[in-house]
This record gives sequence, structure tokens and C-alpha cells, in this order.
Amino acid sequence: MAKDNYSKRRRIIQTLSVLILLSIPLRFFCVDLENECIRLFGIKFGLATMFYPLFTIVALVLFVVGIGMKKGRLFCSHLCPMHMFLEKVNSPKNRTSDSRPVKVWLWSLLFSFLLVQVILSFFQPLDNQIRLIASGNLPIIGISSALFLGFMGLFVHYQEHFCKKGCPYALIQMLLQSDQTRTMQFANPEKTCTNCRGCDDICPFNLRPRFESKTPDCTNCNLCTDACTTELGQGNTLFHLIDPSE
Ligand code: SF4
Ligand code: SF4
Repeated sequence: MAKDNYSKRRRIIQTLSVLILLSIPLRFFCVDLENECIRLFGIKFGLATMFYPLFTIVALVLFVVGIGMKKGRLFCSHLCPMHMFLEKVNSPKNRTSDSRPVKVWLWSLLFSFLLVQVILSFFQPLDNQIRLIASGNLPIIGISSALFLGFMGLFVHYQEHFCKKGCPYALIQMLLQSDQTRTMQFANPEKTCTNCRGCDDICPFNLRPRFESKTPDCTNCNLCTDACTTELGQGNTLFHLIDPSE
């Protein structure tokens, strides 16, 4: 499948975001309660300097929300694990496969386990968690079970419906977007669309891109552009990311 620079850049950013998430269970980035500090890739920030990594996290969140005003649902398509999950289970190959329900469960288990570990490991290393669970510590058993069941519910049952109707970031994004926000637009002036439905089959959010790519639900992931390029040939696509502010 032909990929333009936007798609390649998105894949690189997705990979980096997974590595950053994995750095938490590996304790490269975490709160060290024993030593009363935050660890950030080998650097310790004690109580007096804890302000710096916390400030960076808050600044990053504000940056993502702010840039979303101009660029659309940037966080969803570039950083969110749910989007990665949906790209997997709603790929054209999996969409029509008999084994899709099994794959949904397997990927849900993997994503849920990892996300629970990311949250718990931010405060407690894995060996401490195992020790506490083995000793019957009810708070950690309750928190880890509730988180795991919650994530399983999201991945197995709600999927893109959560992203469209329940995700706080999507709600903020919906409030902040304007006619200056970047959107994926479909134009077919030469009537070259072959109605192959490649764009419909690849959209991870189950949108019909030809009719719904300009709605707030579209994450500007560019997968419909890639699918259309594959159908119409290199350099041709009926989808374009339009940035009115440029
Ligand atoms: S419409 Fe296109 S850009 Fe929007 S979410 Fe679907 S595949 Fe991605
Ligand atoms: S991928 Fe392109 S050619 Fe195929 S249905 Fe979608 S817009 Fe039409």
C-alpha cells in the first residue's frame, strides 16, 4: 500500500508513544514512593524538583489539546492505544475474518493488561504489586481488577462508540474545533471513484469516509487516503487533509 509522509510520520509517532508507555512498567518513568521522587529516564526528581516533570506532563496535555484545535483529533490517530487497537481489529483483513471475535478478545486482553500495568507501575513496581496481591492486599486487588474489567469492557464491547460518545478528549475536541480545524475532505470532480469501498473497509472508526470524513468523529488518520491511492494508483486519491488556517 502506498504511504505518504503523513502516514509514515503517524506510524513513527505511534511507535514512540508505545515505547513511552512501555517505559512506565520498565520503571524508566515512574513515581518512586520509597525514595520520594519521580524517575525520568535515569534522572531522579525529588520532592523539591518534582515540579519539572509534572509541569512537562501538564504542558504536553495542554499542547495536545491546543494543537487539536487546528489539527483535529491528533491525539486519537497518533497516540491513543484505542485507535491502534481499532486499526488492528477493523483492518480489511480482520473485518471479514471468521476469527475476528477471537482476535478482538486476544488483543483486548493484551491491551487491557498493558494499560493496567502502565497505570499501576507508575506508582508500584511489578514485584511489589505481585507481593501485595499475594498477601491479599484488598486495595491493589480491587483497583487492578476494576481497571482490567473497565478496559476489557471498552475494548471488547464499546470500541469506537466510546471514542465517539464517551472519551473526554473527544468531547473537549468537539467543543474546541471550528471552521479553522483541519479536516479530511473527499472530492470526486472527475467522477473517478470506482466505488471499490476500500475507504469504507479500512476506516478504523467504521465511518463511511466519502460521506462522514468531515464529521468530528474522523481522526484524520489518513488510512482512507492510502486505500484510495492503492485503488486509483500512485499519486491519485480522492481524499485530502485540508487545513483552512494555512
Ligand atoms: S474517515 Fe478516513 S481519516 Fe477519518 S477516521 Fe476514517 S479512515 Fe481515518
Ligand atoms: S477508496 Fe477511493 S475509489 Fe475506492 S470507494 Fe473509496 S473513494 Fe472511491
